Amino acid sequence: MTKRVPISFEFFPPKTDAGAEKLRAVHQDLQQLNPEFFSITYGAGGSTRERTLAAISDFNGKGTPVAPHLSCIGDDKARIAELLDLYKSQGIDRIVALRGDLPSGQVGLGELPYAQDLVRFIREHSGDHFKIEVAAYPEMHPQAESFDLDIQRFAEKVHAGANSAITQFFFNPDAYFYFIERIAKLGVHIPVAPGIMPITNASNLIRFADGTGAEIPRWIRKQLQAYGDDSKSIQAFGHEVVVKLCERLIAGGAPSLHFYTMNHIQPNRQLVTDLGLA
Ligand code: FAD
Repeated sequence: MTKRVPISFEFFPPKTDAGAEKLRAVHQDLQQLNPEFFSITYGAGGSTRERTLAAISDFNGKGTPVAPHLSCIGDDKARIAELLDLYKSQGIDRIVALRGDLPSGQVGLGELPYAQDLVRFIREHSGDHFKIEVAAYPEMHPQAESFDLDIQRFAEKVHAGANSAITQFFFNPDAYFYFIERIAKLGVHIPVAPGIMPITNASNLIRFADGTGAEIPRWIRKQLQAYGDDSKSIQAFGHEVVVKLCERLIAGGAPSLHFYTMNHIQPNRQLVTDLGLA
């Protein structure tokens, strides 16, 4: 039987009123699975600022804590300080602190070019009020010069004040275990939650993976291609692959799981239920 570990769910802020309405239903449903928190993404340079705030105010105070994402690249300290003060006044005590990715063509990095600068700034501005989550990349951040440098940078984020981390999605559990081993050698022992991407649609998955530097192992890619338009078979196969991945991660010591929900109930509900984590 799988050991029971805490779960969390990630949403992105909807663009339309209909999307917001739908997300309220998703939130209500997934809340029944008793997650530790819901996180809401934030577009780099403040591009989703109003929509992220709207989603936060929809869900904050409705039982499960919310954790706003906050990215720093292309933004300035005054605007970030405003958000930190607002979140604190709303009783929010967890932030996912990220660098973000600037849209192509935008060149100014802003006053806080890296996530470690943001973490330092949050600690300077808000002291110990927030629990700070940061991003981790078991398969290496796509812009990193080397794995060694990337994990050193990760350790710097932790030394700047991060409490825990959430990974980019991946399908190779060995990459996660190796990452944990290597950061431990740097004296970093914070909880690192694997980010879990459900598999439901081959072309979307390949697009996300290409955009984030995540590897889809050949045996998964080939199988998905072989199913073509047979979405039922893709979903059944995807479910089996992700359940097995989560089981291995939990058995190997992953402290919790963070689901990239893509604002859907299924397959997140099914995964959590079949893993016995609800
Ligand atoms: P950093 O930790 O700053 O690292 C970025 C790169 O710079 C790495 O290659 C690192 O090795 C290097 N680096 C770090 N510090 C230094 C330094 N001092 N000098 C030189 N190089 C350095 N993006 C959004 O826009 N909004 C979101 O809401 C969002 N949510 C996310 C949630 C999770 C769980 C994850 C894993 C990613 C999320 N992202 C989000 C994407 C993320 O912003 C991008 O992957 C971005 O490219 C890197 O962000 P980071 O916080 O890891 O940056």
